[in-house]
Amino acid sequence: MIILTLNAGSSSLKFNVINMVTEASLADGIAERIGLAEGFVRWTIQGEKGRIELDMQDHKEALNAIMEKLHDTVLKGEDVAAVGHRVAHGGPNFGDPIVINQAILQEIEELAFYAPLHNPANAMGIKTAMAMFPKVPHVAVFDTAFHHSMPDYAYTYGLPYDLCKKLGLRRYGFHGTSHRFVADRTATLLGKPIEKLKIVTCHLGNGSSIAAVARGKSIDTSMGLTPLEGVIMGTRSGNVDPGVLITVMEKEGLDAKGMNAILQKQSGLLGISGISSDCREIETQWEAKTSDRARLTMEVLGYGVLKYIGAYAAAMDGIDCITFTAGIGENGPMLRSWICTRLANLFGIQIDEKINQARRKGDRLISTPDSRTAVAVIPTNEELAMARFASKFA
Ligand code: ADP
Repeated sequence: MIILTLNAGSSSLKFNVINMVTEASLADGIAERIGLAEGFVRWTIQGEKGRIELDMQDHKEALNAIMEKLHDTVLKGEDVAAVGHRVAHGGPNFGDPIVINQAILQEIEELAFYAPLHNPANAMGIKTAMAMFPKVPHVAVFDTAFHHSMPDYAYTYGLPYDLCKKLGLRRYGFHGTSHRFVADRTATLLGKPIEKLKIVTCHLGNGSSIAAVARGKSIDTSMGLTPLEGVIMGTRSGNVDPGVLITVMEKEGLDAKGMNAILQKQSGLLGISGISSDCREIETQWEAKTSDRARLTMEVLGYGVLKYIGAYAAAMDGIDCITFTAGIGENGPMLRSWICTRLANLFGIQIDEKINQARRKGDRLISTPDSRTAVAVIPTNEELAMARFASKFA
């Protein structure tokens, strides 16, 4: 069985083709700069990389270009059994993955209020793919879904209750597909049922979030109504005193749009370091001790993660494992070490530095067998998780 997964952004369309028998990715890639000049599509098909320059007016042209490539290769003589669509925001109602019909598509569009950059683009991708594959199930997998199990006291903001109800203001959380996937893999790695485990999952990538996963269910997470809350990210601020926003808007004469641009695009790793939003460049300077702002940036990130781990240990009344995932979590041994060393007393953590530093792939424990709390690195695979959900409806 072949499943296609799609992740549509406002000017991009990411795809993955997965063989569900082997769970191997046969092809993946992205069409970028859709609707703009200098568009291109790049892919890896059965291990071979390729790229074409192509101006695409809309997502339909992008999907056409992608499918042409796939039909000539991995989909030759094979049909797509279902399409899994990543949808950023499911709002208060959508939890589990769901087969999309016209009414659901409309609801996804209406949720643009919560995710103005993402949901309209996701809906556009869905419409395009539904027109191209009218006979197969199209399954929406919501980034917010896994966090539906949070108790009300974890998702309620300290704002007027009626205002929150009226506008749907509450913590929703994101990266749910990833948190669920790595929590499940952590249980497998530890050889224990997930129902018996308390895990803090740290998804640290361009966007970052931490989740408290107690007995397989998310009970709290660092992102909120939007993916701005929590630890610092590539260009997003993470937590700031709300009073700071009021001060900046007043002093700098900014409206909501101007303030939003600072919070979304000019803050986080980029904002503090002044070097880059790419963690690799900052980490290099941190290691080489060539920039004190690089040190500061990484320590602000590490300290932020550390505090969430402590908070979530309190929320779950203990932890069995801390799991790192996504670009920084999987590839940043120095940051993992910085965090875990500081938790040595509280959680009895002992890291095997040799394993931590080894540039290995795959699921692995980086704690020693004597460590009271386990520490794992688990590569996330949101596409496979989406494909598994979609395949259930095929
Ligand atoms: P996205 O949220 O876009 O999926 P990723 O999970 O790919 O992001 O993470 C991107 C981040 O991971 C970037 O900051 C990048 O610098 C970082 N990263 C990737 N590889 C490494 C590495 N080897 N060392 C440190 N950071 C890395």
